[in-house]
Amino acid sequence: MIAAGIDIGSRATKAVLLNQAAVLSSVIMDTGPESARTSEAAMQALLQRAGVSLGDVEYTVATGYGRILVPFADENVSEISCHARGVNHCFPTVRTILDMGGQDCKAIRCDEKGTVVNFIMNDKCAGGTGRFLEIIAEVLEVPLSEIGEAALGSHHDIPFNTICAVFAKSEAISCLRRGVPRGDILSGLHEAIATRSRNLLKRVGIEKDFSISGGIAKNRGLVQKLAEKVGLEPLLAGDPQLMGALGAALFAREGGRGSGGAGARIHYGYADATGDYFITIDRSRCDGCGECVSACPAGIFALAGRNGAGPRAIVRGEARKRLSALCPGFGSCSRSVSANCHSVCRADAISHSWDG
Ligand code: SF4
Ligand code: SF4
Repeated sequence: MIAAGIDIGSRATKAVLLNQAAVLSSVIMDTGPESARTSEAAMQALLQRAGVSLGDVEYTVATGYGRILVPFADENVSEISCHARGVNHCFPTVRTILDMGGQDCKAIRCDEKGTVVNFIMNDKCAGGTGRFLEIIAEVLEVPLSEIGEAALGSHHDIPFNTICAVFAKSEAISCLRRGVPRGDILSGLHEAIATRSRNLLKRVGIEKDFSISGGIAKNRGLVQKLAEKVGLEPLLAGDPQLMGALGAALFAREGGRGSGGAGARIHYGYADATGDYFITIDRSRCDGCGECVSACPAGIFALAGRNGAGPRAIVRGEARKRLSALCPGFGSCSRSVSANCHSVCRADAISHSWDG
């Protein structure tokens, strides 16, 4: 069975294609302004590299920041679950994961099956994220790919009291003006990020073994600092940035077998400044009766089945970005029409929310 996982992050999009347990191809590319288009480009590259067509892919799971906007995904699963699953596949002994992404950082605890038992996320400020390191690299005029090596070459950390992007940037500029070597500045910043990450990990409880996922895990300088702070040598996958996409592909492999597992609830919606309205369909409950399709006055639903699997309700691709404009919610809808998606669905498979 061929299954795909696609991880639409805030800065990078990653994708993995599996045939049973074998990785057929993988892709990492920048996330463009439109998640849907980026996901299509990533999928196309993935298929080309593997020499297969979209029709050969039995199931696709999307994860990451832009997961609800992937038009061809059969399901979506949270990136926390996917990172835990991907890391568990590579290292079944790992119980503690630090996922360092472009705009947030997550400490995750999982069990022996890779199921998340606890997590905590820092997404309130850029400190310690990929974006933060990009800002510092720009200020110091050091290529992003070289900042970790530059930090490793230093023996004189400059202490940084903050990793708030704004204050750290001005501290770094002031150090540069005083003639402090760039490596020492970077070493100090990496030390501060490692301290903060260790504190995040402590809040979920650090248990052996330990792994780091996400693009920042490729920064050797930071990995070394983290190993010192945590007191454990992290187990690192060949490409730690692909762990979320790999986990999504593993969920897709199960979804294609109709397991109705952790990824069976699909959230459709759009969470940004223009709205945060979500419709969720629980595919494990939906029997494909089609009642919601004819009941919805806004034409939001359709039925779709793939590769012999029975049809299930989906939110039409064209409606996904405009849900908050199209759907007034159960209450208003039932006041204007005698039946709505909620009242006609005997399987109770549809729910709506304003907070995702
Ligand atoms: S509440 Fe009404 S408009 Fe909204 S999805 Fe259901 S049937 Fe459609
Ligand atoms: S009414 Fe419910 S069970 Fe029927 S297709 Fe819609 S979501 Fe599925």
